[in-house]
Amino acid sequence: MSREVALAARPQGEPMESDFELRESAPTEPRDGEVLVRNVFVSVDPYMRGRMTGVRTYVPGFEVGDVIDGGAVGRVVASRHDGFAEGDWVSSQLGWREEGIAAGDRLRKLDPLLAPPSTALGVLGMTGFTAWVGLTLIGEAKEGETVYVSGAAGAVGSVAVQIAKLRGLNVIGSAGSPAKVEWLESLGVEAFDYRETAAKDALAGGIDLYFDNVGGEQLEAALSALRPFGRVIACGAISRYNDERAESGPRNLGFVVTKRLRIQGFIVTDHFDRFGDFGDEVGAWVRDGKLTHRETIVDGLENAPAAFAGLFHGDNTGKMLVRVGPDES
Ligand code: NAP
Repeated sequence: MSREVALAARPQGEPMESDFELRESAPTEPRDGEVLVRNVFVSVDPYMRGRMTGVRTYVPGFEVGDVIDGGAVGRVVASRHDGFAEGDWVSSQLGWREEGIAAGDRLRKLDPLLAPPSTALGVLGMTGFTAWVGLTLIGEAKEGETVYVSGAAGAVGSVAVQIAKLRGLNVIGSAGSPAKVEWLESLGVEAFDYRETAAKDALAGGIDLYFDNVGGEQLEAALSALRPFGRVIACGAISRYNDERAESGPRNLGFVVTKRLRIQGFIVTDHFDRFGDFGDEVGAWVRDGKLTHRETIVDGLENAPAAFAGLFHGDNTGKMLVRVGPDES
């Protein structure tokens, strides 16, 4: 038997462990074109919170009883697809389960000699790609500009600040603890703890670009600090994901007109045609040691709900992952 985690109830406000159910599932055999995968790492991501409300946005909502699907990496146990053999490392969307069957066409083979497989969920996967797309395609970040990144010690943010540094920008970043601030400073970021210092004070010198992971007060402070013709890369708004009713937006939205600002949202999956360009550039930086990454690893599938809830309390530095099996490559 293998185990899986399903949605037991729609979270009201902050997600709680009682909103999830750990259950067993019977083994099945892959059919033609399919592959049986034993997961090693599964991803917990802020966007999953939106899916739990059941509202369809750019991705369908979860129904109560659904297994939480999402990013995972694991090893092939049995294959009926020509492209995969037993033992191969693959990334998939199998989500919060120990074992699952996927169509081979929906798997990506990983080379553990090039990079540890867990990086396919973080710095070299969806979150790293989000940072690259945001800065490159949406923000069109330019050397010499000043960018402010909120959530800067998280999975997306910590890659965004480093890409921006490598491209010659001045980088300001915020995070929620002294240890995170210290890490960001070691990366050359002008960092502040948003729980101690108001963003409007930290940004008093002005900014050209805002990479928004947090929304709410951070967005409002950034709109005030942006110079004329500044841009907002609207990546996410984690500070609002657990709101039980819609709050009013930034009080200073009028700056969009008077300062001729551009706010552009994006969804990373719209840009998969550029995944190769991202992999070439960021992969080289990672291999050369120019771009570092951290992972916060929680052990045991049964702890996936707590790891997920921890995203909303800042429990992670870098990418939050759940290890559900042995990871020797
Ligand atoms: P993450 O930053 O690794 O984890 C979430 C972090 O958010 C926490 O560690 C916490 O760090 C911070 N946080 C939580 N509640 C907060 C609050 N109320 N105020 C300020 N900070 C808070 O997660 P991620 O996967 O990299 O995602 C970051 C953002 O990108 C999210 O908004 C996510 O939805 C978005 N995203 C968007 C796309 C897209 O396609 N547009 C793709 C991936 C992710 P602190 O300790 O600093 O508080």
